[in-house]
Amino acid sequence: MNYNNFFKDAISGLKAEGRYRVFANLERIVGKFPKSLYHPENGEAPREITVWCSNDYLGMGQHPKVLEAMDKAVSGQGGGAGGTRNISGSNHLHVALEQELADLHGKEAALLMTSGYVANWTTLSTLGSKLPDCVIISDSQNHNSMIEGMRHSKAERRIWNHNDVEHLEAILKDLGPERAKIVAFESVYSMDGDIAPIGQILDLCEKYNAISYLDEVHAVGMYGPRGGGVAERDGVMHRVDIVQGTLAKAFGVIGGYIAAKPEIVDFVRSFGNGFIFTSSHPPSIAAGALASVRHLKESNAERVAQKERAETLRERMRAAGLPVMDAPSHIVPLMVGNAAMCKEASDRLLFEHDIYVQPINYPTVPRGTERLRFTPGPLHNDELMDHLIDSLLAVWSQLGISKAA
Ligand SMILES: *Cc1c(COP(=O)(O)O)cnc(C)c1O
Repeated sequence: MNYNNFFKDAISGLKAEGRYRVFANLERIVGKFPKSLYHPENGEAPREITVWCSNDYLGMGQHPKVLEAMDKAVSGQGGGAGGTRNISGSNHLHVALEQELADLHGKEAALLMTSGYVANWTTLSTLGSKLPDCVIISDSQNHNSMIEGMRHSKAERRIWNHNDVEHLEAILKDLGPERAKIVAFESVYSMDGDIAPIGQILDLCEKYNAISYLDEVHAVGMYGPRGGGVAERDGVMHRVDIVQGTLAKAFGVIGGYIAAKPEIVDFVRSFGNGFIFTSSHPPSIAAGALASVRHLKESNAERVAQKERAETLRERMRAAGLPVMDAPSHIVPLMVGNAAMCKEASDRLLFEHDIYVQPINYPTVPRGTERLRFTPGPLHNDELMDHLIDSLLAVWSQLGISKAA
């Protein structure tokens, strides 16, 4: 076996398809979000660019309350937490954050994990492998973190067509009420920006005695009067068995969690290897996340401003004849439909217009639906939008990309 050739060939394949990933080397600047310093690969001097694809949707990553809480925890408690949760690494701030998250989702308990990815992976793999003869029924567009967790559980898996409640019901009916079942889905699907009919899905979970598992990663902080997510907005949060979320997107820090009944949380805490065998977050991380969750529970200003900006950008793209996809959420996807073209458009925006929006290619989205995905936030002002629209029109005409959506 020639290992090196194997690795190189695999990478050449990605490059030939135009989906080799190049990471933009960025340096964030407190007080200037959504601007960042971009460090070009060729070693040229760094320059300021505007980030249009951040998942720090509300700019909470630089909120003064968050920074102050993190500073205070670093100077008071230092760097790391010092262990796993079980062995000296359970910090007072982790516990406070879990209580805050439980309250956010109207649940009695919550469990903090390393990331949203780890929370999905750990919870689904643990429940799927331990519940006797369990079947996990998974939306066809679920995130990779759920898919890998389900796979690892070795539980039987049934895939239901995306957001199709009739198909879900047919599967549930077929499995019957006695069998252990988990219905796993998301609220906001982040690539198309569409939203699940959560209430109808919960009706079915209740009717057929299935555990509902809802990934609200793109919705926590963003929807609902206290930022509890789409289930809160829709008035159905109390009916969701397990809410999963992240502290790394709208909350602007890092970390993931589940919120549920104490029996479920205690079970994952006690049997979930992805929780047990890893060190806990630094206290400063928990402090920052706690400040962010608390702030967004009380303040609607960021959510209101974000929605207005997303709507304005969508309307302006439409008015300019750009192929913006319809979506009922805060995500604004612009269709390109070709991997190489998508990358080229993104490169030109960055190199010629100081605009950074990452190309979204297969396998994140199906082939032929490659796109640029914009996440406007409260701080993307009119001036930045004018510049974006002008730049997009220039690139679209240079590359001859289709304007029909
Ligand atoms: C980003 C994402 C995750 C993972 O969350 P992290 O905190 O970034 O690990 C999980 N689910 C969905 C739908 C996501 O988009």
